[in-house]
Amino acid sequence: MKYIKTTCPVCGSENGFTFLQKYKYDNPLFAAGSIVHCNNCEMIFVDPMPDKEALQKYNAGYFDNAHGGVNKDKLTSAFISAVNLLRVIYVEHFNKEQNGSIRNILEIGPGGGQFAKHWLSRHDDIKGYTGVETDEVCYPNLKATGVKVFSSADELPVDQNYDLVVISHVLEHTSHPAEFINACTKYLLPGGTLFIEVPCKDFEHKGSVEPHLLFFDKKPMNIFLARRGFEKIHTSYHGNTIKDLKAKPSLFNKLYSKWRNFLLYRNITFPFSIKEHGLEEVSDPLERAAVKPFKAHIEQDEPSWWLRAIAIKK
Ligand SMILES: [Zn+2]
Repeated sequence: MKYIKTTCPVCGSENGFTFLQKYKYDNPLFAAGSIVHCNNCEMIFVDPMPDKEALQKYNAGYFDNAHGGVNKDKLTSAFISAVNLLRVIYVEHFNKEQNGSIRNILEIGPGGGQFAKHWLSRHDDIKGYTGVETDEVCYPNLKATGVKVFSSADELPVDQNYDLVVISHVLEHTSHPAEFINACTKYLLPGGTLFIEVPCKDFEHKGSVEPHLLFFDKKPMNIFLARRGFEKIHTSYHGNTIKDLKAKPSLFNKLYSKWRNFLLYRNITFPFSIKEHGLEEVSDPLERAAVKPFKAHIEQDEPSWWLRAIAIKK
């Protein structure tokens, strides 16, 4: 077995890592990386991490670098809106259980502002919605949604406190997650809520995972949040299971989804938008139809596409 000398970004362990595979990359920034497993906490991560400054520059143009520009395709937009509404409902549910009150929200990496849009439309008692976004392409839309935008967590006003911090599909991009979480939750009040969503071990079912650097599962996420001063930690799997994602779709399934998309682009949604458990509050039929095959509304027992974590700051 290959000996790896590194430090686990989650548990700090310095001995006992297993090499899993070479990192498949497009940008040379990631060329030296391997995907390794910490034998202590089971965290899986890229080693060595790319250069911090170069990574910052890469992330500043994230939508251009990684996603070929912000996608405005009708079905994609419907999916993104629906999946964010489901996240909002998830946080609301946890907050209700905790008897929490959420008035000031900080979202790290709000991107297109879909989580903010849904939260603000469902709650008229919000005092402030702040976003930290490195990609300036997103600013006009965020401002129009009602989000006050800063380009870095260091710029946040020191006298501002938050009841909720949202970090959705951001943490897996960071090379120093402990520092990152500390900076993002510095102004989160004790008793406040942290919501995180990341892909769950996506290297297992994707050809390329660039630019993801961290591959969480439930156990390391729990250890990570406990070490960062959080309690009442709840982690859950959502979406298609990794087992299903690894299986190649049959010819029938490929043809079916082509036919389905053909109809959806023509606003023929009724065969695909029947309400089911978990989708009750997604009122737009196209959004329901767009999100349904991805099962974001279903909590799974085994590792799946998305891992959600929600916790209370001590
Ligand atoms: Zn570890």
